[in-house]
Amino acid sequence: MTTKSAPHRLPNFCAGPATMPTEVLMRAQDELLDWQGRGLSVMEMSHRSKDYMAITAKAETQLRSLMEIPDNYKVLFLQGGASLQFSAIPLNLLNGGRADYLTTGAWSGKAIKEAQRYANLGLGDINLVATGKDNNFTDVPVPSDWNISDDAAYFHYCANETIHGLQIFEPPVVNAPLIVDMSSCILSQPIDVSKFGMIYAGAQKNIGPAGLVIIIIRDDLLGQASEWCPMLLNYEHQAEKESMSNTPATYSWYLAGLVFDWLEQQGGVAAIGKINQQKAALLYDTIDNSAFYHNPVAHKYRSIMNVPFTLADNSLDKEFLMQSEKAGLLNLKGHRDVGGMRASIYNAVPLEWVQLLVDFMLEFEKKYG
Ligand SMILES: *Cc1c(COP(=O)(O)O)cnc(C)c1O
Repeated sequence: MTTKSAPHRLPNFCAGPATMPTEVLMRAQDELLDWQGRGLSVMEMSHRSKDYMAITAKAETQLRSLMEIPDNYKVLFLQGGASLQFSAIPLNLLNGGRADYLTTGAWSGKAIKEAQRYANLGLGDINLVATGKDNNFTDVPVPSDWNISDDAAYFHYCANETIHGLQIFEPPVVNAPLIVDMSSCILSQPIDVSKFGMIYAGAQKNIGPAGLVIIIIRDDLLGQASEWCPMLLNYEHQAEKESMSNTPATYSWYLAGLVFDWLEQQGGVAAIGKINQQKAALLYDTIDNSAFYHNPVAHKYRSIMNVPFTLADNSLDKEFLMQSEKAGLLNLKGHRDVGGMRASIYNAVPLEWVQLLVDFMLEFEKKYG
């Protein structure tokens, strides 16, 4: 028997790679050298071995259950992050046709930029439906003003703009299959998967370590890839190969499974969703009840995962960041495109950490406000 002292873990508000549940890391530590008495680490296993296949099958079953993914969707565990899907999506689905893109911040902006490269080669048309650029992505243009195509192969948007702190809670109502980037909000609250053609998410925000991207795609969207689509980016091919066309990110995939165990223990997505609402409400209320702090995003689009805030006097930003770090509150610096501060409060951030942040903010305001 070894006795372990409580690990030194500080409140970490990093946007990504983000904090992981301490229990998950401790279990990974326990299993690191010797997985279930087999005498080897998961990262030393053949991805074709029976043990490893059981690990991946369990992770998929859990994700299907946590998100209530219907049977007519494939779940892929691939590499290349969310960013590589910006290229893979047109390669799989554009096929000389037309696609609609809604721009609501930095990430959906990058997605359309990648898609546009194919249109520039004459391989299809990319249509910008609307952009929130004019208001610095603090609001979403009203849907009645959107320039929607009649015949789009798909409609792409980002459900949660991690940098701008803007979240679209209700999926847009359009005829084309919805393709959504949920990198920073997947598993944060219940959603109806059947409303989407495809959901994708890099793992390093709400699922696990970097190196893994999860794709949930409806069967009928497979089999339309361009002939020049690389095999590794071809979703149909990867579905046939059960995400093992080549060596997958084996250890990240295993850790994702441990996070799914942890999520089940928390009571699942609906239960964690309630806590996420509380965390966000606590932080936004603190900001709104003060003239010292400010969040610019339209209320109905305020993200429950990423909360940017500024100080009335931005010459105090440096002091805020220095003192918060001294107080043991990590990674509160805002993204360089937005400035100020940002607190990312993903699933693995407990309510107590948000309370510590709020306490610090009130203290800081007392001193400098
Ligand atoms: C982090 C993030 C990405 C980029 O993810 P990578 O895995 O680094 O490619 C894309 N979209 C959103 C919404 C993100 O939060």
